[in-house]
Amino acid sequence: MSRHSLVILPGDGIGPEVMAEVRKVIGWVEKNAGLSFQIEEDLVGGAAIDKHGVPLAPETLAKCKKSDAVLLGAVGGPKWDNVAYNIRPESGLLALRKELDLFANLRPAIVFDALIDASTLKADVIRGLDILIVRELTGGVYFGTPRGIEDLGNGERRGVNTQVYTSSEIRRVGRVAFDLARQRQARLCSMEKANVMESGKLWREEITALHKTDYSDVALTHMYADNGAMQLLRNPRQFDVIVTDNLFGDILSDEAAMLTGSLGMLPSASLGAADPKTGKRLALYEPVHGSAPDIAGQGKANPLAAILSFSMALRYSFSRSDLADKIDKAVQTVLKEGIRTGDIMAPGATPVSTSQMGDHLIRQIEKTRAEAA
Ligand code: NAD
Repeated sequence: MSRHSLVILPGDGIGPEVMAEVRKVIGWVEKNAGLSFQIEEDLVGGAAIDKHGVPLAPETLAKCKKSDAVLLGAVGGPKWDNVAYNIRPESGLLALRKELDLFANLRPAIVFDALIDASTLKADVIRGLDILIVRELTGGVYFGTPRGIEDLGNGERRGVNTQVYTSSEIRRVGRVAFDLARQRQARLCSMEKANVMESGKLWREEITALHKTDYSDVALTHMYADNGAMQLLRNPRQFDVIVTDNLFGDILSDEAAMLTGSLGMLPSASLGAADPKTGKRLALYEPVHGSAPDIAGQGKANPLAAILSFSMALRYSFSRSDLADKIDKAVQTVLKEGIRTGDIMAPGATPVSTSQMGDHLIRQIEKTRAEAA
């Protein structure tokens, strides 16, 4: 039996509700799949502000740094809208990503057959879509200096941000993307604006060099990010893994997410550097959605994005792709059977609450196990 440490930060709003369903899946995995977790649950975001006066207490951060993986629900809500800017709930999440140096953000965009009509694109264009966007998360224009707004003294002001990347920053996220492509269809498309930006030219050169020395078995293509945005709408299935910088990745990953239709279905992972001795990476897994204050506490939240985030943890932190596949398949089947929370409701489907969705999923995972036995 292998044992892993897991920090669970349910956060605010629907965070605790969806994480309660993730706990059911963790419970199933512990009982049936030879994995055991040492779980520590803690506060983040608004809940941490209420208790500690800050959105991420130093003790919480220390626990996360020591863990094999962190699972987060969501942070924020109207209750904390007027707290000082530097202690807003969202800054707890940003601090966590920064302190753990989570430089690679993984955003899968998968179209489930049963939800094909939830997309605004034609079914023929997106049927069977399964792509992965790897976004550089700790560098680029969101962090580059100089930055700021300066007064030019003549009634004009000047806003400045700096797009900056070093070779090692490009190479480390490139490696993550190439490695992931190897586990999939071995195709990687790198996106930048090498035609008009020096940082983009460097990005292309470094990815090309990495490909030549270490990853020539992966089919590499390059695309300008503006063309990439168009290609994602025109023919998204041409892609397998996409790697891009922080700014373009922010936009392209949201565009790709919307191909799939619903916020309540979108998981994500953020990975740090691999430990040279153990190969383990610090990692944070979280649904893409926020705390959804409009439906919080009503049992209406869709827990599948959070559950699929745990499935990513099984795949990328705990080397159990077999279990991740089982969970992903159970999600497909539950949706096919017409079991739906409100956000993905369709005519004739069966409406269920957050916890009923979790129960249906566990029953389905059980069923596939019984069938396989
Ligand atoms: P949101 O994602 O919380 O909600 C947007 C809409 O989608 C709402 O109508 C909500 O009901 C619905 N929705 C979201 N997740 C759902 C789910 N799992 N099931 C069913 N419906 C779901 O975005 P928002 O309204 O812009 O932000 C609300 C709060 O969340 C804000 O405080 C914001 O700062 C915060 N936020 C946090 C994160 C995060 O923790 N990663 C991300 C985005 C927003």
